Formats: sequence, structure tokens, C-alpha cells
Amino acid sequence: MPAPEAVCDAAAPFLARLRSADHLLLRLLLRTLEAGPLLSRRPRLFSQLPREEAEAYLRTWAESRLAARRRGIAALRALAMLAYYGRDQAWKEVGYDGPWLGRRDVPVLPAPDLRAAPRAAPRIPRPRLAVGIAQGSTAGRAVGRALRVRADVCVIGTGAGGAAALARLAERGFTAVAVEAGGHSTAADYTQRELEMLPLLYQDAGLRATADQAIGIMQGTGVGGSTLHNTGLVYSPPDAIVERWRREHGFPLSEDELGRYVARVRAALRATPIPPDRINANNDALRRGAAALGWRHRVADHNRESCSACGYCMLGCAYNRKYNAALTFLPRALAAGARILSDAAAERIEGRPGARRVICELRDAAGRPTGRTAIIEAATVVVAAGALDSPALLLRSGFSGPRLGRGLRLHPSASVSAVFPEPIVAWRGLPQSVIVDEFASFEEDGRGGWLFLPSAANQPGLAALLTSGFGADHRARMREFAHAASACVLLHDETEGRVTVNRRGRPVARYWPGKADRVALRQGLRALARLYLAAGAERVYLPHAGASPISGEAELRAAMAALTTDRYLLTLNSVHPQGTLAMGHAPDAGAVDPGGQLWGHPGIYVADASLFPTSIGVPPQVTIMALAMAVADGIPERTA
Ligand SMILES: Cc1cc2nc3c(=O)[nH]c(=O)nc-3n(C[C@H](O)[C@H](O)[C@H](O)COP(=O)(O)OP(=O)(O)OC[C@H]3O[C@@H](n4cnc5c(N)ncnc54)[C@H](O)[C@@H]3O)c2cc1C
Ligand code: SF4
Repeated sequence: MPAPEAVCDAAAPFLARLRSADHLLLRLLLRTLEAGPLLSRRPRLFSQLPREEAEAYLRTWAESRLAARRRGIAALRALAMLAYYGRDQAWKEVGYDGPWLGRRDVPVLPAPDLRAAPRAAPRIPRPRLAVGIAQGSTAGRAVGRALRVRADVCVIGTGAGGAAALARLAERGFTAVAVEAGGHSTAADYTQRELEMLPLLYQDAGLRATADQAIGIMQGTGVGGSTLHNTGLVYSPPDAIVERWRREHGFPLSEDELGRYVARVRAALRATPIPPDRINANNDALRRGAAALGWRHRVADHNRESCSACGYCMLGCAYNRKYNAALTFLPRALAAGARILSDAAAERIEGRPGARRVICELRDAAGRPTGRTAIIEAATVVVAAGALDSPALLLRSGFSGPRLGRGLRLHPSASVSAVFPEPIVAWRGLPQSVIVDEFASFEEDGRGGWLFLPSAANQPGLAALLTSGFGADHRARMREFAHAASACVLLHDETEGRVTVNRRGRPVARYWPGKADRVALRQGLRALARLYLAAGAERVYLPHAGASPISGEAELRAAMAALTTDRYLLTLNSVHPQGTLAMGHAPDAGAVDPGGQLWGHPGIYVADASLFPTSIGVPPQVTIMALAMAVADGIPERTA
């Protein structure tokens, strides 16, 4: 066992990302936990309990009727799993052979340098330049004074939606400045280590969750947003979903118009089918099971080129082989005259229509405020801070509306893992290449259904976090890590959650799948377990605490009878939050109009995953980029 100090040290980078109020809450939680056993029959501090008793005590919290205890344990568990299994010292125990960097020579492909000023003069019709900021990308952490910048448009966020909108706006001739809360990292910064990359590339260092801590929500931060660490799946919007949007929500683009945007996005991302010989053992288990049962499945398209198959996409590509927003739309935007200010978190939007001010807090490398501000004055503001932060920004800026922050969909995903006699080594190779769409009824009529997607979180820390339970049972499961394949049921959800803000203006996401979605999740889990048994798994595990191994139909029936879909007992995760500022034909049907403009507030547009009127059902980056381009193209000249 490692010294507890070593695990605490490993947790330090995650704790460093917490705001001071969260530090206070954590301290309170730890003190309450420490003192808790004093009230028992054998009064002792928690830290003095022998291991078995400590585990038993933690279980009483995890199963407590008090939601605060369950929530507290869920948060501590996530932190402890990442800190414990993210350390090099834990890797041998689970058979993980560690990063390639430093032991495999994979050349880094050249990439456009966003920090340098573009050499060619921007070929735009109206080359007026933003005043107050240098060409190219400026790091807010290095800015030693208060900034005041003037532009036609300020884009907030540089992820999938923000990058695509910025490129279109600059290409149309607007002077456009993007502010990005995260830093500007490049391939040279990506170390293939979870303890370093989660704090660098993810919101809340990868520990973001719903308010009750029952569902982890992974979102990115940095110049390029969540595209920096996504797994490269390129999936066009399903026709039936878009048809539902047209029919029920006033979605404005015809099939041909949307098709043209999607084609442009796919070309920008250099979308290409994954060659079948790149399917790794984790994905092949899924493919084999689906084939054995005669279920529809396909090899996905992706946006990688000359990929080394190292498997670290979720921690940023150290070799520049994934065409994320920082390698595609953002260089285009800068070449057309746009500017980017990183480490600049938009705190508020002020002013009146036609004369807005975006007030930004500048941050240091650890994400802490430097004490300096940047004010971007612009007639038009495009909000693209992601489905949690976009509504939060609008709410703390004083905007309101019946649908603002409502309609949150999460694509909740529940994983099944399967242990095979042969090594699977899921962390190596392309993380996601096979998709099973046998149950994707939403592709037929826009409703219901789910996909099976192979797990993308294949490094030990994230895998531990997604493995249910804790204590000795969890440890035993982690020892099977190298032989485990896993995939998730990615639900096309109908449940509507909500994003509000806390007293500090930070997003608070409330969501737990409603009854119909929970029934669908159960059906999906059962089918996925059957798939793995058909693929030859020795045993299969459902995603809930205390799950017993399943090796045949009878055990599966018993396990399904024991499976509960209650909060905290079923392990759920989300990597696709969406829908919180949805397009709608009227203010009571959506937060923004069909052109993406906030109802009642001319000149404020939305261009990210928040726009979706319903759950999209499939990996969303292509749809987000296509809608963001359409929103940018619809912004009239006269607002600038
Ligand atoms: C692990 C993982 C794997 C994924 N894999 C795939 C995949 O294979 N295929 C696919 O299609 N999709 C995938 N996705 C989802 C996809 O990447 C996201 O849905 C998409 O990037 C969301 O786009 P967005 O523009 O809404 O937000 P983001 O891309 O998250 O960008 C939002 C940006 O806004 C910034 N921001 C937030 N608040 C502020 C503020 N106040 N001021 C300034 N900036 C701010 C953030 O720092 C961030 O950079 C994956 C997601 C994850 C987490
Ligand atoms: S597997 Fe992912 S991280 Fe590795 S080279 Fe390919 S795209 Fe990059």
C-alpha cells in the first residue's frame, strides 16, 4: 500500500483547481467524516479505524438516507480514484504499461502556430482590425495590465462551436475576438499522464459533476475546448432527429442547407473512415458480440491522420494527428484576421443592444485570477462556452427567459465491463472505432433508443472512477484491468434537466434520468451484457455498487433483478451535455430563436451544444460545428 501522503500529493493538482468556497466545503466534509465514527458504539476517529472498519464506515455513508453524505462520498471517491490510480506506482498493480512518451519515438507532425501572427495579410473584404490586442493568439496569463479591446464581435469560448463560429465570422469580414477561459496548450504540453492532463484540459480537472455528484460530466477547457481531448468520432446529425427539430422546434435549415454545412465541417475535420485493421481488442470485442447476435454495427469515421494508435486521445494528442478545432477552424479564423485571448474567463456581459461589453477575468496557469481584467467592447456577442457555462454566463449577467438553462440533456452513459481470458489492453489503439446502432430507434423516428460505444476512458484513473463500488471489491476489479473490455449504453435521453447558478455565479446542473429513460438504460445494459457473453467474455459486470460477476443467462437475469437505477447506486457519466439554450420557434419553446439569437436580446447569439432542441443521440461535434457556422452566417452585417 502506498503511504497516504503519496495519494494526497497526487490529489494536489485537482484540489488546486478548486475555488476557495469549494475548499471550505471539502474541509468540512473531511472533518465530518473524520469525526463521524466518534458517535458509534466504539468511538474512534475515522483515521484510526482498521481498513475493514473504515471501508464499512464509508459504505454507511454511501448508502445513507442523507443525500449530503451520499454526495460527499461520491465526490471523495472520484478524487481518490483518480489520485490513487493516476500515480505511476499504482500502474504495475493493474498491469498498465504507461505512456509512450519517452520510450517510443513517434514524430510530432507540424501544426499551425496560433501564437505567431499570421504571415499573410487577412484576405477579408473589410480588414478593419480589432483595437487593443495583438494579432494571433495572446495568453492572458502573460498580460501585465488591464486590457480594453474593441471589435465587431466577441466570441466566448473556442471549443467546437466557438471555433467554427469564429472562423466563419472572420471569413465574412467581421473583426472578431474570441475569449477563452482555459489556457493555450499544444502537442508539446501533452504528457499522456492523467494527473497532469486532467487538470490541464478538463473543466474542474475532470471532476465536474451534477449538483448532487451523482453523474460525472466531462467537458474541456483551453483553446480548442473539448475537441482537444475528444476521441475523434465524426458523426453526422441523424436525419430523423433534425426532422423532429424542424417539425417541433422551428429548426430553420432545410435538408440541403444543413447537408452543405455538415459537408464543410467534415471536410475541415478531414473526416475519413477508420481502417478496419485499426480496430483494437476492446472495440473488436464489441464488434464480435454484435456480429454473433446479428446486431447492426459499423466502423466509425474519425478525424485523425497517420495516427500512431497510442490511445491517449482523451489526454490530448501529443503527436498532432487528430484534427481538433485548434488545428482546423482556429488557424483559419486567425488567418482571416480573428484574434484569440486565452486565460480570459467571461464573467459578465454588460451594456445595451449594439454596445455590449464582455468583462473577463484573466487567469494564471493554474486557472487562478491574476487580478487583471479584459473588457471586450463589441456590438455582437456569440456565446459558445459549452452547455453548462453558456447558460451560467447569461444568468449571472442578468438575462432571463422561461427556457434559459432548461432542457439540459446529458446523453447519460452507463458502462458494462467484460473480462476475457486473453489480454484486451483497452488503453492502446484507437479508443473508439466500432459503434453498435442496432437499438438506435432515434435514427428512424427521432425518439428513444441508444448506441453502444466502446469506452474512451481507458487509462487507469478514469477507468477506476467508472468502475463501480470501492474498497476490496473495487480493487479486485482493477486487478483485471488488462483483461477487461468495456462499452457504454449512450442514451438518447428525453429527460430535461436544468442549469442554474450558485451564489458565485458558477453553473449548477440538475439531472437524473426520468422513468422512461431509466427503463431504456436497463434494457440497454441487459443487451450489452448479452453482447459481451456472445463475444466470449468469462464474466461481465453491470455498473452498480456490489455488482456480482455474470457468466450466463441465468446470472444475467438475477443481476438484472438486483440492478437498481437509483441515484448513487447506478454509475452514470456524461461527455455530451447539451440543450440548455435550445433553438425554439417562440420564447416559451426555446431560449434562442431559430437563428440562434437570444429571444428578446438582439445581438446576443449562442453557438455551441446548448443549441440542440432535443438530445442528438450521436457524438455531437459535427452537428455543433455545423449549427455554429449557420448561426455565424446568419448574423447580419448591420449589427456590426
Ligand atoms: C472525453 C470526451 C470525448 C468526446 N468524444 C467525442 C467524439 O469522439 N466525437 C464527438 O462528436 N464528440 C465528442 N465529444 C463531445 C464534443 O467534444 C463536445 O460535445 C463538443 O466539443 C462541445 O462543443 P461546445 O462548443 O459546446 O463546447 P466545448 O468544446 O466544451 O467548448 C467550450 C469552451 O468554452 C470555454 N469557456 C467556458 N466558460 C467560459 C467563459 N466564461 N469564458 C470564456 N470561455 C469559456 C471552455 O473553456 C471551452 O474551451 C467528447 C467529449 C468528451 C468530454
Ligand atoms: S491515438 Fe489519439 S492521441 Fe494517439 S496519435 Fe492517434 S489521435 Fe493522437
